[in-house]
Order: sequence, then C-alpha cells, then structure tokens
Amino acid sequence: MMGYGYRPEWSEGALKPPIFQTSTFVFSSAAEGKRFFELAHGADPEPGERPGLIYSRLNNPGIEIVEDRLCVWERADRALTFASGMAAIATTLLAHLRPGDTILHTSPVYGGTDHVIRRILPEFGIEPVEIPAATTEERFVALARDRRVGMIYIETPANPTNRLFDIALARRVADRLDDGDRRPLVVVDNTFLGPVFQRPLDHGADLSLYSATKYLGGHSDLIAGAVVGTTEAIEPIAGMRTFLGTMLDPWTAWLLMRSLETLDLRMHRAADNAMRVAEMLAGHPKVQTVRYLGLLREGDPQYDLYRRQCLGPGSVIAVELDGGEDEAYRFLDHLGLIHLAVSLGGTESLAEHPATMTHAGVDPAVREADGVTAGLVRLAIGVEHVDDLLADISKALAEV
Ligand SMILES: *Cc1c(COP(=O)(O)O)cnc(C)c1O
Repeated sequence: MMGYGYRPEWSEGALKPPIFQTSTFVFSSAAEGKRFFELAHGADPEPGERPGLIYSRLNNPGIEIVEDRLCVWERADRALTFASGMAAIATTLLAHLRPGDTILHTSPVYGGTDHVIRRILPEFGIEPVEIPAATTEERFVALARDRRVGMIYIETPANPTNRLFDIALARRVADRLDDGDRRPLVVVDNTFLGPVFQRPLDHGADLSLYSATKYLGGHSDLIAGAVVGTTEAIEPIAGMRTFLGTMLDPWTAWLLMRSLETLDLRMHRAADNAMRVAEMLAGHPKVQTVRYLGLLREGDPQYDLYRRQCLGPGSVIAVELDGGEDEAYRFLDHLGLIHLAVSLGGTESLAEHPATMTHAGVDPAVREADGVTAGLVRLAIGVEHVDDLLADISKALAEV
C-alpha cells in the first residue's frame, strides 16, 4: 500500500508525491479537451486510453493516489474520497436511493447519520425502517414486505455501544430481495474497525464507508470521508460527487495519504491500550458494564459474530458508570490527560457523553432502546503510554 500508485521518477525524484494544489488542468489541444470530456461523460476508452485530468472537482492526481491506496486495504475495485464522512454518506444515499424506496438500517448509528436517515430522507420520499438488533433472517426479510428496498445500511460496531451486526446475514437478505431487476445494496459504515480490523467487502458488502476523520486520518487534524467497493456500486456515487461537489481537497488528501502509512501501527497500539483500559474498568466497583469487543466471551452470540467478522477489537470503549448523568459528568470533568471532546480514532485519547453530546439529536425513546443511557461514557483510546491512561482513569473514577 505504501508505495502504491506513485513513482518518484514521475516528480523529479520526490520520495513523497507532491500536492497538486490546482483547481484546473491545461489541455494540450482543443481536441484533447474534447476527448477528456467525452471520457468523463462515460464514452468507452480506446485500448490503453485513460481519462485525462480536467478540473479538481472531477479528478486530481494526489487524490487519485490516496483512493488507489484505500482500495489496497480492502481489495476493492475503486475508492472515492470526500470532504467529510457525512459527505461520503449523503452522496452515497443520494446516488442509490429514489423517492418511494425504503432504506433498512441498523440502530444506533452515528448521530449525524441518524439525522440524515430518519429526518432528511423522509422529506425526499424515502422511508427508513429500523432492523431490530437481534433479528432472524426471516424477520429481516419480512421487513421488506410491500416495500421497495433500495439499500441495507449497517453500522457495525455501532457508535457508541459497540453492538455488532452480521454483514453476511444482510447480504443473504439482500440476495433474497433481488427481483431480477434490482438488488438492495449492502452498505457498511466501517469507521470504528476498518480497514485494519474489519473488511466488510469480504463478508458480502457492496460498499464500505468511512469517516476518514477518525482512524484513517488518525491525528485529529482533518475532516474527510471515503467509500470503497465494487465498480458497479461506486460508479453512480462518483457521478453524484462530481455534480454535488462533495469531493476532498488536494491538501487534505495529502495529509490522509501520510496518515495511511501508520494506520496499522496506530490501530494495533490503540487496541492494545484499550484492552488494558477495558480490563481495568471491568474490575472497578464504580463501573456497571463495559462494552468492548475485546471483552466478549464464549457463549455470547456477539462473540461468535465477532470471531467471524472482525480481525481485532479496535479501541472504542463504551463504559456505563453506576448512577446517571451526574456520575458520568463527574468522571468526565476529572479526567486530565484524556481530553473531553467528541470524535475518536486520533493518536490522543478522548472521552465524551453520547446521550447529551454526539447522540443528543437522537429521539430519546430510540436512545433508550439502543442502550445509550445517561450513565454511558464513550472512551476513544489513543496511542499514549498505557500507564498514563490507567492512572488518569483511576484518578477520575475516584472522584465519581
Ligand atoms: C464521525 C462519524 C461519522 C461522520 O463523519 P464526519 O467525518 O464527522 O463527517 C460517520 N460515522 C461514524 C461511525 C462516525 O464515527
């Protein structure tokens, strides 16, 4: 992945690809400009012919290198990058759903996604239907009765509870709903684990979608999004991105490319730290429950799914403190090293209160049903020295 898609001899021997900080590209002749536009509008290329560079809303060399490298992780046909995770999600939904369609979706999902699916899509005649957390294949298929399902949208593990959903099951259901004309797309938000610890395309997903702001970017210094998947599923999204203008910019693409080089190191180190933190929390008298994939045990159906679907536990921990909002706030206000901030996946550890912060906009009844309680704190563990993290958390728990 690290050297893929670029050779130093293309740019004066520069080890790193330069940033093509340009809005537009010069054509060598009017005929060439005409041909580039024909190709951009879908004309079939001649043997050996490649689409030319036109304008940075359509394509840009640095952005294409990052997209090619994202494909390597998941052996995807094609990847697209976006201005944010929400831009990636919104562009994907608009590209593949039409008025009269139903979107079957898991819950909880990221607060912004919840807003788009439950509040905005209905205004465009698209009906959201929630898939129950523990569903059978038959009940899942029955949700589609008398409905035209355009997409099955899954967030696994779910933000903020780490609940897993079976991607292969969703694909089996999608195949059963294929009417010969159209099969619902299976789309997975893989922000929490991937691509190091989960590869949805291997389990039958058509698209794997990211807030690249989180682990992919990894340093809490950029906002970006990505979608990777099959050519068939990606192409309509590429077209929609061109016309909505939700693409990434060259400078952020360059930062993201730099970050990909340490993705595997960062995610493994953070997961090792998170395991230690989760074990400490699980044995603490002021803690009610710890939801962390690394603590799942045999006998739990989520454990079987974890073994089948995931390659590691990641580093987000949902911890429920004894008590409610007061106790959670006392804990958060007494953390020192760990900053009180939303977001996750950066080198530094962060903590937040989902019920009143990231998931404040979610319907309270939905929040309650999904286990996003007043005592729940989300910890996003980073790559610091684990002893410092354990000391900080112990000190804050002592003040609860
Ligand atoms: C943060 C996040 C998003 C939204 O991404 P942005 O880059 O903030 O737009 C979507 N899904 C999940 C799971 C997230 O954590």
